Amino acid sequence: MTVLTKTNIDKGLAILKNTQDSKLITNLNSCVHCGLCGESCIYYLTYKDPRYLPAQKVDLITSIYKRYCTFIGKNIPFLTNAKDLDEKNLKEMVDLFFGACTMCGRCNLHCSIGVDIAYLVRTGRMMLAEMGYIPDTIQSTVDASINTGNNMGITKEEFIDTLNWLEDDLKDEVNDEKARIPVDEKDKNILYTLNPREPKFFPLSISAMAKIFYAAKESWTISTSMYDITNYGYFTGNKEEASIIVKRLFDEMKNLNAKELILAECGHGSRAFRWEGPNYLKNKYDFKTITSVELIADYIKTGRIKVDKEKLKQRITLHDPCNLVRNGGIVNEQRYIINQIAKDFVEMTPHGIDNLCCGGGGGQLAMSEYNERRMAIGERKADQIKNTSAQIVITPCHNCVDQLIQINSYYKLNVQIKTLAEIVADAIILE
Ligand code: SF4
Ligand code: SF4
Repeated sequence: MTVLTKTNIDKGLAILKNTQDSKLITNLNSCVHCGLCGESCIYYLTYKDPRYLPAQKVDLITSIYKRYCTFIGKNIPFLTNAKDLDEKNLKEMVDLFFGACTMCGRCNLHCSIGVDIAYLVRTGRMMLAEMGYIPDTIQSTVDASINTGNNMGITKEEFIDTLNWLEDDLKDEVNDEKARIPVDEKDKNILYTLNPREPKFFPLSISAMAKIFYAAKESWTISTSMYDITNYGYFTGNKEEASIIVKRLFDEMKNLNAKELILAECGHGSRAFRWEGPNYLKNKYDFKTITSVELIADYIKTGRIKVDKEKLKQRITLHDPCNLVRNGGIVNEQRYIINQIAKDFVEMTPHGIDNLCCGGGGGQLAMSEYNERRMAIGERKADQIKNTSAQIVITPCHNCVDQLIQINSYYKLNVQIKTLAEIVADAIILE
């Protein structure tokens, strides 16, 4: 950890003193302490510790703001609960903003006056980034992305080798020697991205999407230099590093001259590139970018791919990734797809924009020091799954897949966890 100096305190405070950000000032001054947000947060619901109340996270950053940016806070701090930016409070900021918040945004939805609590947590993370207080575990994930082009440090040779054997498998699967996984090809309709967890741990989700593209007769390619859709710089709050990652994908779109960028099943990556990216680059994209969930729904709807409506006989449920659904507006497409394939689809309670976070968001999967907490907060999701009696849980996000696999094992749920592409690929009828 960094040694606290006047210089890095000033750097952190500069984030709070950004008077051009009226959204920040409004949110910092709005909480009325009604307490309604408590029941929305998986950390508070699990531990019932007032420290974990969303409002407590708001209070922490607000008290520092008051100390350095308001007249009363500067002169009579105890009157307004103003706090110094000292070692003790920095430790609390790291623990609450990194270790006790997935930035799922559910509390925003339930706040009586609409305080954007997740945004304030993100602002707190930005302050910590400026001051050099990012946990090493999550920072090493960002470093891997910046240094190797993907957050798992997969070498280009390893990646190409994986794609080669997946292509052989695809040929067998569709019984067509001409079936391909095209790499680094220019002027295609689609540049498809991946979460590096796919080539590393779940290569079959790449072949699933390749089979869908094959069935749709799509013109597509994967880049072997920049395919990683994840952006842990978004989680750490380091805008420069998040911008570098977005810019690389943007540049690869230009290099390969594709018409559309398709975002793989990755909630935060989709959000970081699609919605935050233009802000990072201070520029609108001049190409279309949508998620694979929207693309697959469109393929089915327009008849471009045909699926067996009787394919899935087991009971299915769906986990909504926070960044894709509540924070990304993709709510109906995944339901449309599942209803085309599954006979027995049961929703969790609650679901859709009010879903419960699985506990793996906000970079939690990268921070092993909070593993115990991450498994504890996952109990709510485990209960939701149990209550549906489903045998298969679908989720269109590889981070959620990872967390749900661990929850499945930890809470002995005995379910299968699948992505949308996997169930669609299984149900495709090839002509
Ligand atoms: S964003 Fe999610 S995890 Fe964070 S305080 Fe709000 S409800 Fe809790
Ligand atoms: S619901 Fe909103 S206003 Fe009420 S305590 Fe929570 S953050 Fe504050």
